[in-house]
Amino acid sequence: MIGSDLVLDGITLDKKELRKRFSKDYKSYYLTKVFADEGFERYTCKICGKNFWSVAERDTCDDPEHTEYSFFKEKPKPMGYVELWKKFSKFFEDNGHTSIKRYPVVSRWRQDLYFTIASIQDFQRIENGAMNFEYSANPLIVPQMCLRFGDVENVGVTGRHLTSFMMAGQHAFNYPKEGYWRDRTIELNYKFLTKELGVKKDTLTYNEDVWAMGDFSEFGPCLESFSGGVELVNSVFTQFESINGAVKELRGQVVDVGWGFERLLWFYTGFDNIYEAVFHDIIKHTEKKLPFEMNNALFRKFARHASELDVTEIKEFKSKEKEILRKAGITEQEYRMKIKPMQAFYAILDHTRTLLFAVSDGALPSNIGGGYNLRVILRRALGFISEHNMDIGIMDIAERQAKELRDLYPELGENLGILSSVVDVESKRYVKSTENASKIINVLLHKGKPISKQELRTLYESNGVTPELISAVAQKENISIELPDGAYEDIIKGDFVGKEKTKKLQIDFGEELPKTEQLYYSFKSEADAKVLWAHEKYVVLDKTPFYPEGGGQAADRGTINDLEVGDVQKVGNIVVHIMKDEVERRITKGKTVACAVDMDRRDRLMAHHTATHLISAASRAVLGKHAWQEGARKDADKAHIDIAHYDKLSYSDVKAIEDWANDAVFKGIKVEVHEMERGEAEGKYGFTIYQGHGVPAKVMRIIVITDTHGKLIDAEACGGMHLAGRESLVGMIKIINTARISDGVDRIEFVAGKSSLEYFQKEHDELGAAAEMTNSERFEVHAKLEKMRADYSNMSKLLQEKNEELGRIVADAILSDIKGKETELVIERNENREVLRKAISAVVQKKPHLTLLVKNGRGEVVCMSGKESKQSAIDFAKKELGSAFKGGGSRDMAEGIKK
Ligand SMILES: [Zn+2]
Ligand SMILES: [Zn+2]
Repeated sequence: MIGSDLVLDGITLDKKELRKRFSKDYKSYYLTKVFADEGFERYTCKICGKNFWSVAERDTCDDPEHTEYSFFKEKPKPMGYVELWKKFSKFFEDNGHTSIKRYPVVSRWRQDLYFTIASIQDFQRIENGAMNFEYSANPLIVPQMCLRFGDVENVGVTGRHLTSFMMAGQHAFNYPKEGYWRDRTIELNYKFLTKELGVKKDTLTYNEDVWAMGDFSEFGPCLESFSGGVELVNSVFTQFESINGAVKELRGQVVDVGWGFERLLWFYTGFDNIYEAVFHDIIKHTEKKLPFEMNNALFRKFARHASELDVTEIKEFKSKEKEILRKAGITEQEYRMKIKPMQAFYAILDHTRTLLFAVSDGALPSNIGGGYNLRVILRRALGFISEHNMDIGIMDIAERQAKELRDLYPELGENLGILSSVVDVESKRYVKSTENASKIINVLLHKGKPISKQELRTLYESNGVTPELISAVAQKENISIELPDGAYEDIIKGDFVGKEKTKKLQIDFGEELPKTEQLYYSFKSEADAKVLWAHEKYVVLDKTPFYPEGGGQAADRGTINDLEVGDVQKVGNIVVHIMKDEVERRITKGKTVACAVDMDRRDRLMAHHTATHLISAASRAVLGKHAWQEGARKDADKAHIDIAHYDKLSYSDVKAIEDWANDAVFKGIKVEVHEMERGEAEGKYGFTIYQGHGVPAKVMRIIVITDTHGKLIDAEACGGMHLAGRESLVGMIKIINTARISDGVDRIEFVAGKSSLEYFQKEHDELGAAAEMTNSERFEVHAKLEKMRADYSNMSKLLQEKNEELGRIVADAILSDIKGKETELVIERNENREVLRKAISAVVQKKPHLTLLVKNGRGEVVCMSGKESKQSAIDFAKKELGSAFKGGGSRDMAEGIKK
């Protein structure tokens, strides 16, 4: 029950301490009505010491760390993934829950995470360091696909790990005002498990535990449901928050139940491992094509003990593996030849599904950010395919998966085309790096030394070599190689990857200043304002028409009392004007000043900003939904936008994007600024509103661009300046440059509005000058230059012929001059170096004992030695001309000038 006495005074924020504290008062934190009604008793595990609830008398809990799996069925009964979801959702809908659509696996609304790692994350919004919840129904369930990469190496091996899994979220918010709490949660839990899934009451246990955010900012007691040695679900009751060490009850408490859906399906069907349950149909369909047998009987022997196996948690993984083999009675030979290929196949199935979801939601494999881990798993899957000679393609599997999940996730089928292009491009890259890598790996392998984790990481990051690739090369070369335990530990990146933050201006005002009133959104260009603070070059006013740099848009310029404004920045919610020069006594605190914004520059900035949104929409229309905006910069003279794409933009891509954007402008666009509740905006326009990486706030400023019939072109959360009501200023949009700026990101540079007109005028003038020079018209310059180039090439050829002809004549003349058997000779001629080279070469061919040096009137020197000559050309030139010779050469030939 909720009471004022539940403030936890003086508690150490440590899971063990909290567990002790909650246990002491278990009636308040763990006892539920179901336990009392159904006859559950409280026990303490004699192995791990945890308290748990059970109907049957037991002295140990059901934790897999010290319990073998006992839920495998002799004859597993397969069940479709979607079918189980229907069962699950019907139960919760019948019990008052709303079923909502999943959120993207790419977590654009969170700054600290690339991917969605838990269903509760859908509703979490961090604002000024505080966590708020945003939800469209209460209570609700959501089939949330989550991605986690911390266990990559366990996938396929342990029989239970995955990189993508559905967290079937069951959430009730804002208790006690709304939602529900522990009694209802565990009542639903008990009913669903026993009535719907048929779990026998006496095999069901509930462990008492504690759940906490990493920094203990929020935490609460939780009850874990176990049966058959597997944890089926953890019901978390987020009840407390800690602010600067002070712990108190949350005003709106949250029930956070994340049902591990794959595990539930595994448990319910009774297969030996999670992959057989989740990917049952695909395995049945594909196994005929595999060059090895899916030996389920053998795998079962291994799987029974695999609950103890965890690459990331066990330091001595290899010895643990051996121990399990011993226990299961499997030889190492059998393990390597029969079980390992199965493990690899399972991993491929998991990795493919992860890529399908990630790419479908707009993430791409790359070397940066969240794309990094996607490339690792794609390469890992490709590595397994080649290591075990599997005749299967990633896309065959992905297509089957999309089809199977169609009723639940129809979007997967729509995005197969993008995935196919991505896999294609990435496979080619992989093959290329494999070729390059083979040599490197060979050198490494022949050293005979074990490979360190650090070396593995370097190999992956600089050469794209995965541990699988090393194994494959070693196998081909017949070398046995030991890879270190946890080979992926240093390669894979964690789930919490801070996204890039921009460097901000920092000023200590020395006093509390009020939020600056923003006049710029009303297009006001002039205003009188009061000076609140002024120091050196910095000026703070009570209100301002100057737009401070933000969202990639450059700041306004103009004047304050005839003094020039050089830059404008935001410090918190205070706008700071940075003047060109120190203001000294000209602008002082308390004075009223006149502000005037340079509106020509502002018009250009606005044209570029609205055009950026159009190019972004055009890119998605032309390239696909994956073409998210990765960054942008809008200056007065030009702008650029960075677009995610798996391959370098082609000329036709660029042209199509430019045409699409201009088409929209020519037909007529309408730009509107809407203030909207975040939930409403996300629901109406989808998560593409976070294109510009706008941070979610309670009320959001959404820039909506439509055509003249009201059809949506683009909607983005954006704090920048746009041409609402002044749309004609966008003018023509011209892409002037594109470049691949990093792996997976293309930069499109463009001009719009007045700047685009100026660009065309300048180009027109340049072309005019070229036309004049070539004595032609503007549109004939190209043809004219082509003709001139042809003429030039003909003349060069002619000159070449003439030189050769002359060379022969000169050679004959020299030969007729040579008397007797000279071996060294210096003569002077008047021909150019080109001719001399040809002539001398002909001479020493006929007189192989001769070394001949020729000087001409321009001081040019060419010297050659015949094949039989005892003299070297360079030595002879130096001997004859001494320090006057400036040049170089070899035994056969030397060239230079005589100073
Ligand atoms: Zn235990
Ligand atoms: Zn914007």
